[in-house]
Amino acid sequence: MATIISGKELSAKMKAEMARKVATFPEKYGRVPHLVVILVGEDPASQSYVKGKAKASEVVGIKNTTILRPASITQDELLSLIDSLNADDSVDGILVQLPLPAHIDEARIIEAIAKEKDVDGFHPLNVAALWMKQPCIVACTPKGIIRMLDEAGVEISGKKAVVIGRSQIVGLPVAKLLLDRNATVTICHSRTKDLPSVTRDAEILVVAIGRPRFVTADMVSEGTVVIDVGVNRDPETGKLCGDVDYDAVEPKASVITPVPGGVGPMTITCLMENTIECFEKKMGK
Ligand code: NAP
Repeated sequence: MATIISGKELSAKMKAEMARKVATFPEKYGRVPHLVVILVGEDPASQSYVKGKAKASEVVGIKNTTILRPASITQDELLSLIDSLNADDSVDGILVQLPLPAHIDEARIIEAIAKEKDVDGFHPLNVAALWMKQPCIVACTPKGIIRMLDEAGVEISGKKAVVIGRSQIVGLPVAKLLLDRNATVTICHSRTKDLPSVTRDAEILVVAIGRPRFVTADMVSEGTVVIDVGVNRDPETGKLCGDVDYDAVEPKASVITPVPGGVGPMTITCLMENTIECFEKKMGK
C-alpha cells in the first residue's frame, strides 16, 4: 500500500498558515496582497480555474480581482491592460489565464507582465533565473510537486528521478528543481525510445503528459514515488483522471498522488504563496 499524498489536505494546511500571516499584513504594511487575474473568453475549464484562484485568495485573505475580457480582444488591447496593471502600485501579482485565443501571441503577453508581478513564474527572466540558480518566482505546479515530496518525507538527493514531459510549465522546471535537489534526472518525451525501460529505472517518477492512464503498472518498479500531474477526462466515464493508471500503479508505488486532489490543489496554493512572495518583496521584506 502506497502512502497517498493528499494535495487537498496539504493545501488546506498551507492556506491556513498563509491566512494567519496575511492577517498581520494590514497592521504591518497597511494592506493585503492584491492578485489580478485576467480571463479572456469563455472557456469553461479556464473559468473554473479562475474561480478556484478567487476562492483560494478569499481563504488566504488575498485581495483578488478577476478581469473578464471577450475573446475578441485585440493583442494591443490586452497589452495595454497589462501595462496599466504593471504601473498600478496597488497590484502585486498579475496572472493571464492560458490558453489565449489563437490571434494572441501568448509569449508576447507573458513577456509584457512585469517580472516582479509574474506570479505564474512564466516570464523569460524568471525562467532564466531558475536555470541560473538565481532568486526567482518558481512556476506553481513544479513548486507544488517539490513541496509534496518534502511533505511525504521523500529524500530527493541522490535519487534517480524520471520526468515524462518536457513542457515549459511543468516538465522542464520540475526537472530543474529535482536537479537542484541533487537528483539524477532523466527527461522523457514523445520521441523517447522504450519508455517503460526508462521509467522502470525511476525511484521518483513525475508524469506530465496529458494522456489518461498512460502509465501502467508494468512501467513502474516496486517502491517508486509516483507524482501524477495529468488532468484528463476519462474517455469512458467522463470523470477526471490522471496520466497514471492509479488503481494498477498504487499497489506498487511507495508514495503516490491522486487525481483529483493531488497536484492540482497544490498549484493554486503555490500561486497564493507566489503572490505573497511578490508582495513581501515589494514591501521590502
Ligand atoms: P504539454 O505542454 O502538452 O506537454 C506534454 C508533454 O508530454 C510533451 O513534452 C510531450 O512530448 C510529452 N508526451 C506526450 N505524449 C507522450 C508519450 N506518448 N510518451 C512520452 N511523452 C509524451 O502538457 P503540460 O502542459 O505539461 O501538461 C501535462 C498534463 O499536466 C496535462 O494533463 C495538463 O492538464 C496537466 N497539468 C496539470 C496541472 C496541475 O496543476 N495539476 C498544471 C499543468 C498541467 P513532446 O515534447 O515530444 O511533444
